[in-house]
Amino acid sequence: MIEIRGLNKRYGAFDALKGIDLDVKPGEFLVVLGPSGAGKSTLLRCINRLAEPTSGDIRIDGQPVRSDAASLRRLRCQVAMIFQHYNVVPRLSVQKNVLTGRLGAVPSVLSWLQIFPRKDVAIALECLRRVELEDKAELRTDTLSGGQKQRVGIARALAQQPKIILADEPVASLDPKTSRTVLNYLKQASRELGITVVCNLHQIDYAREFGERIVGVSGGRIVFEGGPDQLNGDV
Ligand code: ADP
Ligand code: ADP
Repeated sequence: MIEIRGLNKRYGAFDALKGIDLDVKPGEFLVVLGPSGAGKSTLLRCINRLAEPTSGDIRIDGQPVRSDAASLRRLRCQVAMIFQHYNVVPRLSVQKNVLTGRLGAVPSVLSWLQIFPRKDVAIALECLRRVELEDKAELRTDTLSGGQKQRVGIARALAQQPKIILADEPVASLDPKTSRTVLNYLKQASRELGITVVCNLHQIDYAREFGERIVGVSGGRIVFEGGPDQLNGDV
């Protein structure tokens, strides 16, 4: 699904990624585990071209990821993001936030007017149902708790009907109980819908609990790769 070969990313004189080779299989829930500054964010940003790799090759379904406008449009349809700080629009309703996941799919004149076809509204509500927030659809998003906002973030990603979801520290701002709830929603949705997920985490407990496979990153390199059972305390 995603093939990464010899990926390097340099910021000035600083090498944030040093020769990353990684295959992500279709439908898997891959956790990228590592401390702050390891390069996890940079890895995700290179995959969806929010950052331009310095060198190396990234392919999705065998197609090289490129940065021309047409490739980026295709990439944005295939790949959805979930962020640590949710990136929801506070003053918009929950449903409107989720509908922004449909922006790539509707004619732009409709999205400027914030008019969405009935079909897209139905998709948004179905995604809200997956994170059990359908009863909050009409509320302003800034009235929700952090965990609920991240569930909106998940629903928005699902509304995009992506092949791949890249989640960058989705629970780093949440308490342990809420974190597990949020990761459960993400994992369950991805499993039911067959979406490939790459999820950055810095807590080993969650990596062990939710990762089907775990890649440990430190100092811009992969330092561990294995199943949750192979993960011991000192990654
Ligand atoms: P992580 O997500 O694991 O915390 P990041 O990928 O955000 O790690 O960052 C890896 C390293 O690259 C850090 O040392 C960070 O300061 C540096 N870095 C990230 N983005 C930039 C940037 N735009 N310019 C310069 N340095 C950056
Ligand atoms: P994270 O939550 O992934 O650790 P950061 O707070 O490190 O994120 O980075 C937030 C933003 O700032 C990102 O866009 C990252 O690329 C950029 N950034 C991080 N470190 C640096 C740096 N040393 N110089 C410039 N930009 C940076």
